[in-house]
Amino acid sequence: MRDQILVIDEGTTSTRAMLFGPDGQCRHTAQQQLTQHYPEPGRVEHDAAEIWQRTLAVAHEVVAEAGGAEAIAAIGITNQRETIVFWSRRTGEPLAPAIVWQDRRTAATCRALKEQGYEPAVQTKTGLVLDPYFSGSKIGWAMAHWPQLREAGDDLAIGTIDSWLIWKLTANDERGGLHITDATNASRTALMAIGSGHWDDGLIELFGAPRKALPEIVDCAGRFGETTLFGAPIPICGIAGDQQAATIGQSCLQVGETKATFGTGAFVLTQAGPTPPTSRHRLLSTIAWQLDGRRSYALEGSVFVAGSLIQWLRDTLGLIGTAAETEALARSVTDNGGTYLVPALSGLGAPWWEPDARGSISGLSFSTTRAHIVRAALEAMAHQAHDLEAAFAADGINWNCVRIDGGMVANNWMAQDMADMLGIPVERPRFAETTALGAAMLAGVGSGLFADLAAAGVMRGAVETFTPAIDADARAARLAGWQKAVASVVTLAA
Ligand code: ADP
Repeated sequence: MRDQILVIDEGTTSTRAMLFGPDGQCRHTAQQQLTQHYPEPGRVEHDAAEIWQRTLAVAHEVVAEAGGAEAIAAIGITNQRETIVFWSRRTGEPLAPAIVWQDRRTAATCRALKEQGYEPAVQTKTGLVLDPYFSGSKIGWAMAHWPQLREAGDDLAIGTIDSWLIWKLTANDERGGLHITDATNASRTALMAIGSGHWDDGLIELFGAPRKALPEIVDCAGRFGETTLFGAPIPICGIAGDQQAATIGQSCLQVGETKATFGTGAFVLTQAGPTPPTSRHRLLSTIAWQLDGRRSYALEGSVFVAGSLIQWLRDTLGLIGTAAETEALARSVTDNGGTYLVPALSGLGAPWWEPDARGSISGLSFSTTRAHIVRAALEAMAHQAHDLEAAFAADGINWNCVRIDGGMVANNWMAQDMADMLGIPVERPRFAETTALGAAMLAGVGSGLFADLAAAGVMRGAVETFTPAIDADARAARLAGWQKAVASVVTLAA
């Protein structure tokens, strides 16, 4: 029976293929790590050719596990957002490095545009702020600095990772295939007017992007094209950026329902319904999904450093041997001993948006141990989530509960600390790969296995709940310490 779904989940640090049954059971996963390139401080690049080769390899493994392409009803694609790829339509090969979402090379450009007063107009059209995070300024930088892109003329194709993978999957010859992107990925480029669902000529000109090189914007579910790379043709039926996919995978379908993903970065999205929300507190307004040409929106808080902080403690500082060890270390001390860690290692995201901020560890004394610093690092996650909770509340959206996911939430101590600091229940699904699940749900809708996203909700399994258990004074003291620490980082950057 042709009812299995192949999900391609292309993340920042690894690419994965997963096989889902229509009941939501994940039957197989194959994963490969991706090389991170740091050519200069503040610059982060990926090799799009490596992303494709590794994606193809993991997809082949999963198709074989499924018993061949004939068993697969549809492909769902979800990906790291904003990262931008430049390739040749003729050869299907990258023409330049992919510039990764974390890359800050356009901080000065964004600051200059802000000083020239462009931010309110950009925010109204795109729901985004002027920050290097989004693809538009990165495309402009690439066009200005990489002559081969200008020389490519009409041969140049530009797209986010979804677009790149679909081009490669649908390439039936050397010239490549479909050049599309879904509305959620498009909404992160800063080139799309999110109210209309179309590219905006004014934004394209502002950032210096070549209009003809951009993909066509499509829905998140449908029959977009077929890949013949695995034997029998398999239709591509679902596409969404990773955070939007997680929002769907966590079934945040009703207005106010909120999910928070703690992976490399942390991303909180609250379902906002059919009208684009307007933030007055520096949150982002973004497309949650587009189905049958109709859009649903979300309010988003994006935090750049989450799990990457733990990786940094492990790989750069050598303070821990494994990420999992942080849980026992945090439990081994009764409190943070006055230590606060502000993880602004690549600037601060929402609600601060301070690309020049740098991190700090404060409150050190001779009694500070490794465990205190590790605990402060984990505590920073709940602190950042708390700042977002306050910004969402100021924008009129109060969270009743937060549904958490991502690699970091395997940490039980952190999940409890989150409930304590937010003062609301925190739900953790037993199956934590909600991003992949969301892509599977979209592919299920696009292929006709499910009538709509609500029906696809049967794929979501059981959840565990963490309830607040800290006393009010301890909570207030923690938050006061954090606010002092973050304020000094923001002041130094200003
Ligand atoms: P992404 O999808 O962004 O690549 P994941 O969702 O796979 O990331 O999350 C991986 C991150 O989670 C890593 O940065 C890692 O340091 C962190 N992590 C994994 N396990 C734990 C743990 N038990 N405690 C804290 N952090 C963890």
